[in-house]
Amino acid sequence: MKKKSQHKINKTTLADLYEHSFIGVTVHRGFDILYSNPKVAKILGYSDVAKLREAADLRPHIPRRRQREISERWAEIEGGALKPERNRVSNITLDGHEIWLDVTDERILWEDGKPAIISTLYDVSTAVHTNESLLSSLRHLEVSLDSILETIPTGIAIFSDVGEPKTVNSAMRRLFQASPSESDYVPRAMSDLLARLVNSDAQELSERGVETRVNKVVDLIARRMSDDTIMLSAADVSDWKYTQDELKTLAERDSLTKLFNRRGFVDTVRPMLETCAGKNQHFAIIIADIDFFKSINDTHGHAAGDEALRNFSKRIDKALRNRDVVGRVGGEEFAIFLPDSSLETAERIAERLRAKIAKNPIAIAGMRVPMTASFGLKVWEADSDIPRLKALMQDADNALYRAKQAGRNRVALA
Ligand code: GH3
Ligand code: MG
Ligand code: MG
Repeated sequence: MKKKSQHKINKTTLADLYEHSFIGVTVHRGFDILYSNPKVAKILGYSDVAKLREAADLRPHIPRRRQREISERWAEIEGGALKPERNRVSNITLDGHEIWLDVTDERILWEDGKPAIISTLYDVSTAVHTNESLLSSLRHLEVSLDSILETIPTGIAIFSDVGEPKTVNSAMRRLFQASPSESDYVPRAMSDLLARLVNSDAQELSERGVETRVNKVVDLIARRMSDDTIMLSAADVSDWKYTQDELKTLAERDSLTKLFNRRGFVDTVRPMLETCAGKNQHFAIIIADIDFFKSINDTHGHAAGDEALRNFSKRIDKALRNRDVVGRVGGEEFAIFLPDSSLETAERIAERLRAKIAKNPIAIAGMRVPMTASFGLKVWEADSDIPRLKALMQDADNALYRAKQAGRNRVALA
């Protein structure tokens, strides 16, 4: 067994260790310094340890307001009434700067046989200052985050992990017009999405194109945050949606008559036609063309021709059933889709249209001008091959040509 004495350090070695320690060590009785190593002098701002030893006074380095409390505590430690302790305290350097020290105070018996206190001092000013500036940056960040939240156009609402509202920014209120009196108002679309996220394992769920009660269109995203809260954001896409709708209208509507143009007609009818054919339901396509329209232009002018086209369009649109689709597919040429129509039904509808137009002169520039149109009709009967719209329209067009050949103002079958 090793003897303890082997580890015993003699006094000279100990003094040597203290002299070179990076921790300040001082022995004192009250404020009177009995011993101090060079590191204490350095911490307290002395150029030379001799100067501190000469002053031999700790008082100038303890803030005045704490001197009384500290000397009482030291007295208790010296008397053995208080256990050694470690504290983080502020001290003052020789030139009056505040520094932060981790200090331990412990009772010893000094060379004269009387109790004294040995204190170790470790400078933690850098750590304390770093901490303080971190805290202040954090506070700064919180303030900026708050003002960012309040100024961004995106609606933000924070909910607890079980979906209770915590914060709602003003953009969110604006998008859903929650007045101050209904500060707890959670729109239906939001609570639905929230409930879906709470009841799922998903990290994020979204809902696009949600209409709010102030006619805004928003994209909603609900996302789980790292602190277990749920953030719901609402991006205002109203302008984008409006532009999209406008573009769609421009692309598929005819500006003169507001009816579908050829593209709008084809895009709308194709899926309807496939549904009908899939269900083995018959349907019909009509192509109509105004008779001798050139002469209307020639007689009354192009503007009057336009007016005639508008009135003619209204007339067919009104005469058709709700589910029928009509488009202006050429200058004075129209296509009509009649879903769920047998040959008899389609013929009856086409004949009724023809008669209505022929019977009622059309209003042009305050006059009433007689007008007729010719119709080509193609019916798709159930059980035949799956049809192609383009081919059906071509068939109807061929029938129209025959109606023209046969003298106009009539319906011809394909
Ligand atoms: P048909 O009975 O054989 O159909 O004789 P039509 O005179 O109607 O002959 P066609 O269908 O070939 O001529 C169509 C005319 O419609 C030619 C053109 O001047 C006129 N037109 C086409 N688009 C417009 C338009 O947007 N506005 C006006 N005012 N006229 C148009
Ligand atoms: Mg014509
Ligand atoms: Mg024509």
